[in-house]
Amino acid sequence: MISETQSTVLSDGQRKLSAVVREFADQVVAPAAYRYDTERRLPVEIIEQMGELGLFGLPFPVDVGGQGKDYVSLCLAVEALARVDQSIAVTLEAGVGLGIMPIFRHGTDEQKQRWLPDLVSGRALAAFGLTEAGAGSDAGATRTTARRDEATGEWVIDGSKQFITNSGTPITSVITVTAVTGTRTGADGATHPELSSFLVPSGTPGLTVEPSYDKVGWHTSDTHPLTLDGVRVPAGNLLGEQGRGYANFLRALDEGRIAFAALATGAAQGCLEEALRYAKEREVFGHAIGGNQHIAFTLARMQARVHSARLCWLDAALKQVHGKPFKAEASVAKLVGGEAAMANARDASQIFGGYGFLNENAVARHYRDSKILEVGEGTTEVQLMIIARDLGLAS
Ligand SMILES: Cc1cc2nc3c(=O)[nH]c(=O)nc-3n(C[C@H](O)[C@H](O)[C@H](O)COP(=O)(O)OP(=O)(O)OC[C@H]3O[C@@H](n4cnc5c(N)ncnc54)[C@H](O)[C@@H]3O)c2cc1C
Repeated sequence: MISETQSTVLSDGQRKLSAVVREFADQVVAPAAYRYDTERRLPVEIIEQMGELGLFGLPFPVDVGGQGKDYVSLCLAVEALARVDQSIAVTLEAGVGLGIMPIFRHGTDEQKQRWLPDLVSGRALAAFGLTEAGAGSDAGATRTTARRDEATGEWVIDGSKQFITNSGTPITSVITVTAVTGTRTGADGATHPELSSFLVPSGTPGLTVEPSYDKVGWHTSDTHPLTLDGVRVPAGNLLGEQGRGYANFLRALDEGRIAFAALATGAAQGCLEEALRYAKEREVFGHAIGGNQHIAFTLARMQARVHSARLCWLDAALKQVHGKPFKAEASVAKLVGGEAAMANARDASQIFGGYGFLNENAVARHYRDSKILEVGEGTTEVQLMIIARDLGLAS
């Protein structure tokens, strides 16, 4: 069977990593996935074990406590986890791509020394608060503000955020939030809000992590609205240059989409594996349902989707690793991966018949979980906009 471990572009170390995370996913995560889903809480004990495996440090250099691997390795780990539990996979994907990466890329030495050791070891989680009620796809419409208190030098942040992954776990240490810090004149001569990013430690007075949402899926993943009411942070908590917040989060999102695409590929792969196993076992009209050409062709199509999705994220991730432009490739990967996961979740549930409608079966969880893969880190329509722009079309 075609699998990620057979890819000729992977190193021996990457293949080994993928196998190790698969084994961890099968032996530790999968048996408890249904329980986590019904309890609707992030199992910190699993995050700790992922930390011990070094997963949160994969793409970071050894001198900041990382594993000295690369973005392909992170994606392989995310894919292997998502086969059995998308929530656990997104905790890693968002924790690294949105939580740690902006601090690693744009942080001062002092910020890195303060936050990275616990984050790359998985002892703590970081979140990234960009989305607001009126600023989702149009993130530039941010309304949260940060003003400088000239008397103390502190930044005072007011506003709110929506849907922030990893923001309210018992081990969340810091949340990066974007806020308007003034105005700037764009190349078009028009005035635009100037966005900057700030590190807000958990527990800062004025920061309220509101109760979790009642989500359709990703029940184990931690997601909250945030309210920021006169939140004061020291001048040293500005992340990156003032006014570079927009450019910096676009970079974080471009990269994050590759790992998100790997997550979607893992979900599509998980659906394929479950449905294939069931099609060989389940007997109807006196023979295994996999013997029906319709079901065999459905499974063949599911395999084709997984393989296409994997090649897409792998291409984007390799371009990232080799310092080549990857923005459009990341969007293609996110688009193809999300559609593959949704289609495979639907087909796998159908192959399971009535049992595909029971939450205790992984295919049912994938069916609920996969919808967000067409929305999170930029909707399908936003990916199409980016790809159309790459084709030279105004979108
Ligand atoms: C579980 C979960 C976790 C999340 N985690 C985070 C997180 O950690 N941090 C964070 O900042 N955000 C997070 N998000 C937010 C997510 O990124 C946004 O929901 C997403 O970007 C879409 O924004 P929106 O929901 O406001 O939709 P909107 O922007 O309101 O879009 C609504 C619909 O209109 C479409 N649309 C909008 N404009 C156009 C156009 N010009 N042409 C065609 N169609 C268009 C969109 O594609 C979509 O289908 C999370 C969301 C969820 C549900």
